[in-house]
Amino acid sequence: MYGAMMKGYIENNQLTKVVDLFNQIKNPSHINVIVLFNACARLGTKEALNIIRKVSKEMPKNFQLNSRLVNSLLDAFIKCGDCSSAESLFSKTKKSIINYGNLMNGFNKENNPLKTLDLFNQMKMNSIQGNIIIYLCLIKALAQIGDYSICQSFIKHIPNSFLLDNQIQNALIDMWSKSGSIDKAKETFDKISQPDRIGYTAMTIELFRQISEKFLDEITYVCILNACSHSGLVDEAQSIFKNISIKTECIYGAMIDCFSRASFFQQAQQLIDEYERDHLPVLTMYMALLSGARNVNNSSSAQHIYDRMKKVFPEQPDPLTAATTLLNNVYASIGDLEKASNIQKELQKLGAKKKFGLSWTVINRQISQFRAHDQSHPRSNEIYAEVKKISRELLQHGHQYDSSWITRPLNQDETIESVLCGHSEKLAIAWNFLENPNVKRIQVTNNLRVCGDCHRAIKLIATVRKCEIIIRDANRNHHFYTNGQCSCNDYF
Ligand SMILES: [Zn+2]
Ligand SMILES: [Zn+2]
Repeated sequence: MYGAMMKGYIENNQLTKVVDLFNQIKNPSHINVIVLFNACARLGTKEALNIIRKVSKEMPKNFQLNSRLVNSLLDAFIKCGDCSSAESLFSKTKKSIINYGNLMNGFNKENNPLKTLDLFNQMKMNSIQGNIIIYLCLIKALAQIGDYSICQSFIKHIPNSFLLDNQIQNALIDMWSKSGSIDKAKETFDKISQPDRIGYTAMTIELFRQISEKFLDEITYVCILNACSHSGLVDEAQSIFKNISIKTECIYGAMIDCFSRASFFQQAQQLIDEYERDHLPVLTMYMALLSGARNVNNSSSAQHIYDRMKKVFPEQPDPLTAATTLLNNVYASIGDLEKASNIQKELQKLGAKKKFGLSWTVINRQISQFRAHDQSHPRSNEIYAEVKKISRELLQHGHQYDSSWITRPLNQDETIESVLCGHSEKLAIAWNFLENPNVKRIQVTNNLRVCGDCHRAIKLIATVRKCEIIIRDANRNHHFYTNGQCSCNDYF
């Protein structure tokens, strides 16, 4: 009877009721456990994860022989964001292609593309043929790493028949664009017999001229506005925006972002007001505005926007945490430490969890991953010595470390310089110079946006060391040339 009721609840998406009911069962059958795991997978919360851990530990040992149960447990771990438990379970079970796909997907979501590549290699070693899901996961992982040579070496393993698939082609265009190879992206694009919207989107500006009137829909407009925004072409963006007959949320968002990046705060605010006349407030619009104020350290605008956000998004810790961090940056940068420390306290109240920075770089086909302040690399001492050397050169050439990009109080053994030098992209760059002091081109991929201090420092490093440096961050590509300029024109 319990089983039927649990199934009924899960069909009606009453997931917490499934959990409640399960707790009343004295000796749950393996079917009950499967239904519970499925409910937890759909909940995907921390509480759900705790339940999964507890139940999987306490259930009879012979349940682990049931492959359906094991599959649902694996899926539940992944959906609740615990890929390492999923991985250890996976290593003990019979490997199916579905499980491979699920786990790869999980690792991609966790921003851990190296694990996805490991799994793919494992499949090859065990002579398991991939399917479309596996290849899509592989391409997405490669896009995250964004290195041309690594992409090339893996793409060889995708059978030709899959390369004709539309989804694969779109993913490939995205991957080649992100690894800085517009030629390859264009080549893939040209192979598509009937190009669709997503294909266009991935190529954005490079292919803008090819877009015919009939394809001009929301996504293409947003791309064009974004491209204008990133190049500081506010007038062009405004005239395009005016002529769009149906303006959606995303289109408004892109235009607001464009105004904000150019410090046209009043115009941006007016547009938000216009939008909110008949829509609910949208967080990203406010964040765009606040980031704009942050970039020029305009504390009164930032405070004003922040106060409004507190009214518009009450009791929503996630958006407010992001906003509070930005506001804190502004006050720190203008030296108002009292205000900054008050905001720090507010941040702690919100229970802020900060994402840590990760960078990847590839040297001689070897991928290295660095966390901020990473000391796990076998040659860590040498890397930090190289970081010091670079830092000395930076200071000699007039660089001043900008403490406003530090958003937490310093520990006793830290300095502004040591904290900023520990950013993962700086470690990745140092590692490149250590491996090859005469390197002429360095490529690094970041999971977060590059900070303002790193951006200024890297411009100088590219000049002083006469080496092109390409950083793909969470937002865009930065191509630092040896003349000290970046392709983003400092719009980031
Ligand atoms: Zn940085
Ligand atoms: Zn840049």
